[in-house]
Amino acid sequence: MSAQDSIMPTHSPAMAEPPQAEMTAAVEPALPLISIEVARSLFAYGPSSPYYASFAKGGEMSQCLPSINQSAPAVVRASRAEVAAAMAKHSRVLLQFSGGKDSLACLYLLRPYWDRLTVMWSSRGDPFPEVVELLAQIRPLVREVVEVSGNAKAHIEKGIYPVDLVPVPGTWLGRTLEPATAPFIFASRYDCCTENFWKPMAHATEAGGFDLVVRGQRDSEAKRAPFSSGAVDSGGRTYLLPLQHWSKQDVLAYLHAEGVELPRQYAYGLSSLDCLHCTAYLEENGGKRRYLRDFHPEAAIEYERRLRLIQGAQEREHRLMRIALGEIEPAEGEGMGD
Ligand code: SF4
Repeated sequence: MSAQDSIMPTHSPAMAEPPQAEMTAAVEPALPLISIEVARSLFAYGPSSPYYASFAKGGEMSQCLPSINQSAPAVVRASRAEVAAAMAKHSRVLLQFSGGKDSLACLYLLRPYWDRLTVMWSSRGDPFPEVVELLAQIRPLVREVVEVSGNAKAHIEKGIYPVDLVPVPGTWLGRTLEPATAPFIFASRYDCCTENFWKPMAHATEAGGFDLVVRGQRDSEAKRAPFSSGAVDSGGRTYLLPLQHWSKQDVLAYLHAEGVELPRQYAYGLSSLDCLHCTAYLEENGGKRRYLRDFHPEAAIEYERRLRLIQGAQEREHRLMRIALGEIEPAEGEGMGD
């Protein structure tokens, strides 16, 4: 599947035949006639319809739009209104984009404003090629795409592996105080993301002079920044979270209605594709090894090798915990001092 498949509508939007009564109510007899195709497009997409702009410029047809737009689910209508209000108040608008379903939904909510939109994406220095391709497809559609880099790949090539549960003997300080021959160091995933993702992204956002930052953050997500839509940071930037009150199902239904195919990693239980060689965030990467094997076989071999190194260190800590709890007997001096 090409990235084009991911970003551009790939099927006719699933659209139930509008009840005759609603269609009749939406197009009053006194108004000029519009074709059924145009009516359906407006009915399904509202402001995202390619016909919307010409209708919205004024004239008799614009009177049709309020009733036609009632067809969108309430969360979508509320978010479109929130986006429209924010766009009217701000001039430098940034979408922080990951390539996952939530940021894709935001991109589509912002469709009427693509000519004003900067899309910022963090490659962290170790991107999946399909995400690079996706951004290349978005680039001509919006005002600009800005790639923020990082050193995740160099980090990992130096033998610094991000992990969820850090065995401290494997940290940089642990390696210093407990000399070992292991040619790798473990780092907390949050330290790794701070260095290679969050800080570079924050600096680029600040340097870009944006006054509105849009993110695909939802309250129903397990991991999210601790603020709400409308928050203003110390630099005076307003944060717009148009999906804040959406469920995962709302996002999937919206993308389906927009005719946007989910990126292929969703079939593997993955969400956004972050760093190709990342060995952390395992709670959401159970299908990563299988995905890598199917699409990036060389990376799959290296990914598995690193996971096994991490597993060995974590199992030692797990055994020591069981000895400390008296669940197992120590073997070969484990749990005993010098
Ligand atoms: S996604 Fe993984 S490898 Fe990439 S910056 Fe975050 S912790 Fe590091």
